[in-house]
Amino acid sequence: MAWSCFSCTASIPVQPQVNFRPSNQKCLQDVRNMVKSLGIHSIRSSPVDSLKNGNWVKLICGASFEDVVDIRNLSLVYTLAGVNQGIEAAREIVEVGRPWVMISVNDDEDLHFRKAEFDPADCPQDCSRPCEIVCPANAISLEKENPQQAIFGIPVMRGGVLTERCYGCGRCIPVCPYDKISVHTYVRDAAATSELLRRDDIDALEIHTSGRQTLHFKSLWDGLGDAINHLRLVAVSFPDVGDSSISTMNAMYSIMEPGLRCFNLWQLDGRPMSGDIGRGATRESITFAVRLAAASDRPRGFLQLAGGTNAHTVAGLKKHGLFQTKSVSDENFKDGQSTVGSLRPLDASIGGIAYGGYARKVVGRILSSMQSQHELTCIEESPDYLLKALAEALALVGTVKCYEIPS
Ligand code: SF4
Ligand code: SF4
Repeated sequence: MAWSCFSCTASIPVQPQVNFRPSNQKCLQDVRNMVKSLGIHSIRSSPVDSLKNGNWVKLICGASFEDVVDIRNLSLVYTLAGVNQGIEAAREIVEVGRPWVMISVNDDEDLHFRKAEFDPADCPQDCSRPCEIVCPANAISLEKENPQQAIFGIPVMRGGVLTERCYGCGRCIPVCPYDKISVHTYVRDAAATSELLRRDDIDALEIHTSGRQTLHFKSLWDGLGDAINHLRLVAVSFPDVGDSSISTMNAMYSIMEPGLRCFNLWQLDGRPMSGDIGRGATRESITFAVRLAAASDRPRGFLQLAGGTNAHTVAGLKKHGLFQTKSVSDENFKDGQSTVGSLRPLDASIGGIAYGGYARKVVGRILSSMQSQHELTCIEESPDYLLKALAEALALVGTVKCYEIPS
């Protein structure tokens, strides 16, 4: 099951518990000082206030990403930066507010819910292994078998896709010169999701849908039943499908409205799973946001960017006058208080930004270096690494939260 976290919300997979070693408390004073010097510990705005003010940030751990150690460390670092095992560990270091925890489901086949797979024994020995190089999640690990141990004297490739790290971006598929990689897609079970929501330790649900039809969406929504009442937020994540985007949103809202007792949010998935590729990846999500923010016939709900978001997203929103600006005369607010999550006429046009691949990349390279050099599991055991990771997280999140980061 996939989770994301922050006011914040985190998408974090539901995982078996891992016993982490206790942290070295006395070495964490530098981290406390850094967080306190930025005043982050004293910021007590709720996730809903963040959405209303346009400074909501969501960390997407990845709907299919299930490496519990990385998720825990990412959550810890981003919670300290203003974004569960990891969240609680962060709150033991510095008393920061608890972010919401969000899980992700899909109503049909979806890019975010798939895993790459191949049989390494089928790979030619002389392949230069471009799949391994291109994978942004270090989810492919291959090595040539020792010829002395080879069956029949012919060495084969060993290893393959580390399933728990693969988040389905698909970049390995076109680079394989021998067409050896396929994908396995899956759909989350509505009954299992309902059961999880009833445990009351999840704050928000993100539904990934194609934005092209509502049949599967209705079936999932009906399947979730009154478990929806346990949530504070329902997010619908969908790609830009052009002129039909608004009509599909309205159709989905009509399906949700009778059972919706919490806030709702539209996640505009501009260019899915691409934020780490480069500066221009954020363009689609901004274009999508500009169009929807101007649409007076869209249904109620906060708007939040995702898909291609990176360090350039805030600048793009500012250029279009959408960064933390208020929607004064929005038709969606014409009757003031909604029976659902009450939005006000002066709430931000864009509630916030979700960061996925880019957020994982900037902190992930520090986690990789820590794990390869020190074989540590918990990042707080190495305050130097934690400080470096926190600086990276703050450089990204701080632009939305408007922290004054010392240079
Ligand atoms: S789909 Fe993406 S994350 Fe998965 S193995 Fe291929 S490149 Fe890596
Ligand atoms: S690129 Fe294709 S053939 Fe080469 S190692 Fe990767 S999966 Fe195997």
